[in-house]
Amino acid sequence: MWRYRELLPVIEDQNIVTLGEGFTPILRLRRLGEGLGLENLYLKDESQIPTGSFKARGLSIAISKAKELGITKIVLPTAGNAGSAAAAYATRAGIEAHVFAPRETPEVNKKEIVAYGAELHLVDGLISDAGKMVNELKGKNHWFDVSTLKEPYRVEGKKTMGFELAEQLAWKLPDAIVFPTGGGTGVIGMWKAFSELEELRWISGKRPKMFVVQSTGCAPLVRAFEEGRDESTFWQNAQTVAVGLCVPKAFADRLILKALRESGGAAVAVTDDEIMGPVRELAQKEGILVCPEGGATLAALKHLKERKLISEEETVVVFNTGSALKYMHLFGL
Ligand SMILES: *Cc1c(COP(=O)(O)O)cnc(C)c1O
Repeated sequence: MWRYRELLPVIEDQNIVTLGEGFTPILRLRRLGEGLGLENLYLKDESQIPTGSFKARGLSIAISKAKELGITKIVLPTAGNAGSAAAAYATRAGIEAHVFAPRETPEVNKKEIVAYGAELHLVDGLISDAGKMVNELKGKNHWFDVSTLKEPYRVEGKKTMGFELAEQLAWKLPDAIVFPTGGGTGVIGMWKAFSELEELRWISGKRPKMFVVQSTGCAPLVRAFEEGRDESTFWQNAQTVAVGLCVPKAFADRLILKALRESGGAAVAVTDDEIMGPVRELAQKEGILVCPEGGATLAALKHLKERKLISEEETVVVFNTGSALKYMHLFGL
């Protein structure tokens, strides 16, 4: 990822805190694509990143910049994977990390956070409740808040996914990108990357249609998109097996909805029941096991194709944002 450091906010190389994240493979899904009637279907596989999810990109940059700014204590709310990544990178940088997570967070994430030596604070409720606790406590404890998009650096890390797409596809962006979305940093980051690459004149022409996928158990962006609103409203009783998507209201919802509309994309929801079928199919046809958030993007392809939002010959890239090995409780024998 740090091959793009001239376009990233860290000034001194000595402040870079890295575990070797980024430049993940883009894999062709020939057999799965055939079944769906999509000739040019690809998967960008973020499962191979340190700490097992694409959250490492944002936190590598945020923690590097925190180090550069002389920050000694950070805090964040998490649905799981951001907490794992924050804990690992903070420890590597010698920074104290406080992670606020819902009590129901997957055991794997809780254990990872503790194993890396971070302070885990369990909260009754959802990530939004964890966010409230962070707001209440950060001031008096002098904790620097690295919540998604409340600081400017995590999105810079997610931006590198857009750079990689361009570079790996020989500077020709795909027609469509399908991304599982909670807080939205992934989508906003890639959209920013495309602006910067245009400004550098490294790419030109039409930008990809951006599609965000949520679960019907928590789909505030889908509801706002369909109602033509600029902002989402809080989703009551949010619940889904794709915990990374369990964000009842994204802090940067306006930016996400703006990117979707500018790109000619859309927001779509899939049910939890729809997610695991494509996960198994992908594993059996292509030898790739994805997390449920990645499964949601695969499930969405059927809807996008039926609604004629993507077509047979278009190049489509779906994202697998994390490792399936963290979700083994969802796989029966
Ligand atoms: C956080 C997360 C997402 C959602 O990403 P955002 O950038 O917050 O929209 C998707 N999948 C996984 C595995 C995640 O951990």
